[in-house]
Amino acid sequence: MSESLEAIAKKRKIQYFLVSWVDLFGNLRAKLVPSRAINDMQRDGAGFAGFAAWLDMTPAYPDLFAVPDPESLIQLPWQPEIGWVASDLWMDGKPVEASPRVALKRQLEKAKKKGFRMKTGVECEYHLVNPEGTDIADPADTESKPCYDQMALMRQYPVVSKICDAMIKLGWNPYQNDHEDANGQFEMNWDFDDALKTADRHVFFKYMVKSIAEEHGLRATFMPKPFKHLTGNGCHAHVSFWNSTGKKNLFLASGKKDKRGLGLSPLAYQALGGILHSASDLAAIFNPTVNSYKRINAPRTTSGATWAPNTITYAGNNRTHMIRVPDDGRFELRLMDGASNPYLSQAGFLVAMLDGIDNNRDPGEPTHVNMYEEGHKVKTTRRLPLNLLDAIRSFDKNKILRAGLGDELVDAYVKLKLQSWDSYASHLSSWERDNTLDC
Ligand SMILES: [Mg+2]
Repeated sequence: MSESLEAIAKKRKIQYFLVSWVDLFGNLRAKLVPSRAINDMQRDGAGFAGFAAWLDMTPAYPDLFAVPDPESLIQLPWQPEIGWVASDLWMDGKPVEASPRVALKRQLEKAKKKGFRMKTGVECEYHLVNPEGTDIADPADTESKPCYDQMALMRQYPVVSKICDAMIKLGWNPYQNDHEDANGQFEMNWDFDDALKTADRHVFFKYMVKSIAEEHGLRATFMPKPFKHLTGNGCHAHVSFWNSTGKKNLFLASGKKDKRGLGLSPLAYQALGGILHSASDLAAIFNPTVNSYKRINAPRTTSGATWAPNTITYAGNNRTHMIRVPDDGRFELRLMDGASNPYLSQAGFLVAMLDGIDNNRDPGEPTHVNMYEEGHKVKTTRRLPLNLLDAIRSFDKNKILRAGLGDELVDAYVKLKLQSWDSYASHLSSWERDNTLDC
């Protein structure tokens, strides 16, 4: 029996609950529910019209119910009278298979049955821009190598420290904040944890950053490539599998270092092999927008590097690869960007990792080269999709991801993303005019 939100509201003086959920495009939807009504909502869910969000539903569908998960409750540190709760979607008395949080929970359950508990940490980069979104917010932030720039970091201290203070208050254990590689770009890191907790926090982090930036007259964006000449917004994830008690890291090489010298267990290499095997199809989830493909496969930025992968490779502590092994017992997936759906991304790579383990997929030897300089010399390397259309088409055909995520989710996602591509394709750009007018 989960704890009563009504009782928590009384104890913690919460007047309203944001009963929230995330659709297939990662958009955060909510109803603001007064505490007096939360008891019924906790039992039956808050009602929504599914067609009104990015789920493949029609106006004729019955009510969609968002049932809040009390475990996910976050009391807003900057508005403590409000409690945010992540919810699971239900319809006709059944969980909605094509909803992202339900999909992640389903994968975690499968992993649990095999004795694996996935822990993750995410690095959500964002830009602080003007309210119109046309330029970065700080006109003095013009260094060509602005990463870790102390002056540019401290000019945004009011925003950055307020977000960090909130994370401290929430018990997330934040440990560093920095100015990232693009002008106007920042990253804030907090401790890794169980995958669902990290996903809920990831969703809330994006809401918190945007809200606090707005309070300061700014706008925060997680857009993968908001400015052509600058480094884009990645969303790297650090991943490891643990035993059921969460005390033993199953990705850690036991005894001496492994023969590849990266400190990973055979299980970790199988999981890594599973991700490499499905990577170009996973791009549809990890890089879910038209704009995403301008971050990967991008030309060099003004800072000297994009920091984004173009190819499907892995190595040790080398940031030019899609997968980096920065330390013993975990690896970092560097393909995801700021538009990736916190639940779907994790559900996607978990499916691929379980496939890697079930089918003993060998990732091959790590590629110890600078991929930005010498990538062309690695002849066996597979490229990532060049655009959203290619990614969606190959995702649609991937039997492993389809079997793992389910037809209902994959079909809905592919249909909606193809609509998105069609909308982009029918848009007439100034590039076409510039290059075709005198044809
Ligand atoms: Mg970063």
